[in-house]
Amino acid sequence: MRLILMGPPGAGKGTQAEALAEKIGGAHISTGDIFRANVKDQTELGQTAQRYMDAGEYVPDEVTNAMVKDRLSRDDAESFILDGYPRTVAQVETLDDMLADLGRPLDVVLALVVDQEELIARLLKRAETSGRADDTEEVIRHRQKVYAAETAPLLEVYGERGLLREVDGMGDVDEIARRIASALESPPAPGALGAVEA
Ligand code: AMP
Repeated sequence: MRLILMGPPGAGKGTQAEALAEKIGGAHISTGDIFRANVKDQTELGQTAQRYMDAGEYVPDEVTNAMVKDRLSRDDAESFILDGYPRTVAQVETLDDMLADLGRPLDVVLALVVDQEELIARLLKRAETSGRADDTEEVIRHRQKVYAAETAPLLEVYGERGLLREVDGMGDVDEIARRIASALESPPAPGALGAVEA
């Protein structure tokens, strides 16, 4: 299965993507994790990414796209869960091209839906232990704004393609995992991919 897990910062994408990758198989590809590993190792990519990440801004598309292309073309990415990518309309277009070239079309886009104040509360709590430079209240609020402006419009794009399943992301981790499992079992919405006109 090839899927994208979407949702604003703090929606629980990382936790759910990891569990799902274990359950259904496939590579868990988190652009945030790859950037953080590069920052830690002080690679050139990490040095470029770090200043954007620390400010809660998106890393430029050309940097991010090249990194994802490399990752997606590996053998273990026949099935995958993309976590944190795509985040801009331009990234969607690039991803479309990459997947067409690889002959690995998307099956579904899952979006976790969580109240804004709950997101801020979760991220502030995570800040106590994460050690992430972008988990300060100011940067947390900025990241929500960037998500609303740059990434939320992608829900409409995938909705129009009939690929989107929205999942209630409030509640505990296991409960959300169960909702994700049932969303993956549900048939596509009427008029979605696969529904052939008579
Ligand atoms: P995340 O762990 O998904 O919250 O990502 C942490 C940070 O990594 C983001 O705030 C961005 O600075 C950067 N990042 C992750 N994914 C992307 C992406 N698809 N496009 C641009 N920047 C990204």
